[in-house]
Amino acid sequence: MNIQGVEVGGSGIVVIAGPCAVESAVQLYETARAVKASGAGILRGGAFKPRSSPYKFQGMGEEGLKLLGNIRKETGLPVVTEVMDTRQVELVAEYADMLQIGSRNMQNYPLLKEVGMLHKPILLKRGMMATIEEFLLAAEYILNQGNDQVILCERGIRTFETSTRNTLDLSAVPMLKHLTHLPVIVDPSHGTGIRWMVPAMAKAAIAAGADGLIMEVHYKPEEALCDGYQSLSLDEFNLLMTDLKKIARAIGREILSPTLSLV
Ligand code: PEP
Ligand code: MN
Repeated sequence: MNIQGVEVGGSGIVVIAGPCAVESAVQLYETARAVKASGAGILRGGAFKPRSSPYKFQGMGEEGLKLLGNIRKETGLPVVTEVMDTRQVELVAEYADMLQIGSRNMQNYPLLKEVGMLHKPILLKRGMMATIEEFLLAAEYILNQGNDQVILCERGIRTFETSTRNTLDLSAVPMLKHLTHLPVIVDPSHGTGIRWMVPAMAKAAIAAGADGLIMEVHYKPEEALCDGYQSLSLDEFNLLMTDLKKIARAIGREILSPTLSLV
């Protein structure tokens, strides 16, 4: 599947990186420029945020989308951002190269059907309580509408374990690849919820056969309005990319960078 020149699901590995949420122009631009310099292929950043608490920062909304649009042009990095509501699909699709359906919405069937009518890639995150079968049936809601560009993302599931935010189910990677032809990526940021654990699980995901990673990176993690505790600093991300390139090479793959200039 081609995301504005980035070929996902082939022999290449895509690294999607950026802040959990778009917070300001400076925060987004500084982070985006740095992840690009380190070799990220796609930029992430939430404008509409599904927060567990209604009293926490909910995202910048359309302003955030505009900032994503600006830095997309400057860096040439395609952008993925979350859509939470059928009423916002059209707006988000104007700015995003790929739309993210978050874990909390994996079983929002009207939303799945709505993005199924788009001609844009969809990043579908596994529901935190979803079985592999439920995950694949959710993907089918999108595919059945005619949109065959779906990327599956394992992001950790809820278990009895409390030492990590979620339990990252890396066995889902070979299982999903066995059961489908869809690209499979891993989110070690939400999967662990702990910054220092992200590099280990990112490397393990690539070794397990994932087609890519999505990771939270922030230019000042300690000041982040959302998920700072699981966000890598710019230096940590850069260091991790060096290791990921070696692992990719060891299994006969390579980390992809964008090849098109975006309009
Ligand atoms: C996110 O990617 O920022 C996010 C909210 O992820 P999830 O839906 O997996 O919790
Ligand atoms: Mn997050």
